[in-house]
Amino acid sequence: MSDFFKYAIDLVAVLLLAFGIKGLSKVRSARGANQLAAVAMGLAVIGLLLSYLGQPSLNAQAWTWILAGTAVGGVFGAITAQRVPMTSMPEVVALFNGCGGMSSLLVALAAALYPAALDATGIVALVSIVISVFVGSITFTGSIVAMAKLQGWLSTPSWMQSKARHLVNIALAVVALIAAVEMIRNGGSGLWLLVVASALLGVGVTLPIGGADMPVVISLLNSYSGVAAAAAGFVVGSQLLIVAGAMVGAAGLILTQVMCKGMNRSLVSVLFGGALGASSTASSGGGEYTNITSCSVEECALTLEAAERVIIVPGYGLAVAQAQHTLREVTRSLEAAGIEVAYAIHPVAGRMPGHMNVLLAEADVPYEQLKEMDVINPDFPATDVVLVLGANDVVNPQAKTDPNSPLYGMPVLDVQQARTVFVVKRGMSAGYSGIKNDLFELGNTSMVFGDAKKVLGDLLGELKELGVGKK
Ligand code: NAP
Repeated sequence: MSDFFKYAIDLVAVLLLAFGIKGLSKVRSARGANQLAAVAMGLAVIGLLLSYLGQPSLNAQAWTWILAGTAVGGVFGAITAQRVPMTSMPEVVALFNGCGGMSSLLVALAAALYPAALDATGIVALVSIVISVFVGSITFTGSIVAMAKLQGWLSTPSWMQSKARHLVNIALAVVALIAAVEMIRNGGSGLWLLVVASALLGVGVTLPIGGADMPVVISLLNSYSGVAAAAAGFVVGSQLLIVAGAMVGAAGLILTQVMCKGMNRSLVSVLFGGALGASSTASSGGGEYTNITSCSVEECALTLEAAERVIIVPGYGLAVAQAQHTLREVTRSLEAAGIEVAYAIHPVAGRMPGHMNVLLAEADVPYEQLKEMDVINPDFPATDVVLVLGANDVVNPQAKTDPNSPLYGMPVLDVQQARTVFVVKRGMSAGYSGIKNDLFELGNTSMVFGDAKKVLGDLLGELKELGVGKK
């Protein structure tokens, strides 16, 4: 294939990828954008294979490996995408980041071991190999540790929570640096030391990080996988890989920053603060509930019937209950009765950025009704009823009122300013942060206990009985 066609295919693939990433920033276009990015990746692979057609290296044996790899990876990806529930998406993203890191590592290893075959000679190639091995190894082991921790397969050993871990990590980083310099000076030796030291560094940096911070780390590792891919692009001379890797690196970094802001954490405290989060904060800001008011679904339905304006606050529990479709039926009844309905979306509600948007989009909730926190917060005082569905931390007023609370400083939804607040959850369990929620004891809050799907189903029945939404 002529160079012109190869560059034309690469250019189209890069443009599609750029449009794909841009489209992901809007809920309305996200689904199509994802498909566009997938087409870009497919095109990039096809373009690469076409450019090798007719060359002796692309023989029958090579084709066998390529097709076998495509089949194994494709089947694994398809099954994972079909089977994994949305609530486990951070684990899947971690696993896929790990695969990305490993791929870059393997490309760099192949180039380091067979530089002539891959035309990876010279100082630029050597420095790129070092970067790709270093970042790829960290990304691979760090992502696998992150996934195992989220799955509950791994916990942080006690010594890892002491300050000594910083010394171990610094020692590993120094060893990796020495191996990298050795590789660049002597054209290859020091490779395996670099691999081992970087891989251990990935484990050492990720293992002490607490559960609540893990999605931030996964986003950062996503960025690293982009950097590793870009470096691998320099190794094999692929402009496409360089551009795609740089885009992933930048996008991952921006997402990391958005998440840190939403959780009021600095990246430094996430990376070096140790195991903060769910388990360690369980005792702080806690305490027994003494003044809880609960009510029946029937009372909730009667209050909703009389409301003019209702705001829905979805949280992690709604996703666990898979109650989005029942919720949509409830809001359809309310809207048919002339009640104004909006959905308040907190940036870190659920377990990953955009979790609630995806969940509600599945149930065909109109995008215009999804309001971001800063947009909807001023509307709560003029709202009759707020329905908090499986959300907890994101509506905890302690974040604004109690300087001793671990949540203090995190931006939250000011639901307590509404006339009446109904909180639907199964019991009085804490949210992800592990702390008590002052909202539940306020005079205008009533708890409606039960699984979100069951409660919403019953609510729908009550609304029908009351004739709400019937023309
Ligand atoms: P949350 O604070 O984790 O609370 C979820 C609540 O849902 C729990 O209190 C639980 O109470 C309830 N629940 C669970 N299953 C339920 C069911 N089947 N039916 C009804 N309720 C159910 O959730 P959130 O308010 O969405 O806050 C998200 C948290 O995750 C924040 O602390 C955030 O910082 C953290 N986080 C988010 C991200 C992100 O990117 N989105 C990343 C990292 C961390 P019961 O057990 O009593 O029912």
